[in-house]
Amino acid sequence: MYKTIKIKTKADGKDDAKILVIYTGGTLGMVYDHRSDGLVPFDFAQIPDNLPEMGRLDFEITVLTFEKLLDSSNITPSVWIKLAEIIGQKYDEFDSFVILHGTDTMAYSASALSYLLENLNKPVIFTGAQLPIGVARTDAKENFITALEIAAAKQNNRPVVSEVCIYFNSVLLRGNRARKHESVQFNAFEAENYPVLAEAGVKIEYNHPFIRHYKQNVSLKVHKHLDENVVILKLFPGISEKVVKSVLQIEGLKGVVLETYGAGNAPTDEWFLKLIKESLDSGIVIYNVSQCNGGRVTQGRYQTSQYLQEIGVVSGADLTTEAAITKMMFAFGQSNDLEEVKRILKQPIAGEMS
Ligand code: ASP
Repeated sequence: MYKTIKIKTKADGKDDAKILVIYTGGTLGMVYDHRSDGLVPFDFAQIPDNLPEMGRLDFEITVLTFEKLLDSSNITPSVWIKLAEIIGQKYDEFDSFVILHGTDTMAYSASALSYLLENLNKPVIFTGAQLPIGVARTDAKENFITALEIAAAKQNNRPVVSEVCIYFNSVLLRGNRARKHESVQFNAFEAENYPVLAEAGVKIEYNHPFIRHYKQNVSLKVHKHLDENVVILKLFPGISEKVVKSVLQIEGLKGVVLETYGAGNAPTDEWFLKLIKESLDSGIVIYNVSQCNGGRVTQGRYQTSQYLQEIGVVSGADLTTEAAITKMMFAFGQSNDLEEVKRILKQPIAGEMS
């Protein structure tokens, strides 16, 4: 199901940093194909031709490539579980993990993995590129090489970073705080609500106080259940009763991420509040996140969010939508008990909210 390739580097079995690269697909791995005159996914066996710099790195690199490479628009929760399982199976064998992934849904995948990998004590660094590795001006090389260096970084015999992150365009971000905000420039990702974990200039400068602490005496627990009976409902001025009703009445629906305005505000029309209340009464969980990139939901601050607070909409605080929807999938994968699901949603699991 996967192909494994050992990359020849300077380490040759002598170094203690062993990195597993998992190649899922995305723009990074595209090369120009003369026959078809288009971009096609490249075979990692061709890496010495495209990235000879890898030969100069002094850690061991093994690449596991998905047989069917995915544009990240085709990533599904089952792929997240697969990734978590691979990391679980290879956890003792490798010091760290780099996941090459398309940028489009990378923030969802990084968020999901941060919940699925409980007690993670090793780096899991997602990266990708805006331009294929086979293009002269590509950002793939810098992103990939620096992600490998961050994955290999150790201090006092411990990894410098022991959480799920996204490295892109010189910055290391907490994965479940990041979102793709740019589709043309190289700076594809930002994390408005959490500081950058590292910045790569001439040196890689780590922002230690904001990096999750290494946990003593714990072992990795890989969770394998995600529930897809959730939806994102984004408000907009003029949203109709018909639209809200049809979303809330989806068969089997368990959870809604409600993208509200500003600090968590929503219309106070009677029909709207009635639909929300009826859904809550029928056992649907509603999680309030803001359409703003920065800041947080503070239910009750404005009259337009007071009612949501009173009837039991759960505040998503400063979560991104990506982190919220994957957290809902995770929470319903953990339990069918509504109180337990709400308890999970209200507290941070992997530093995704504050
Ligand atoms: N569509 C591509 C993907 O997400 C874009 C990228 O990799 O940047 O797989």
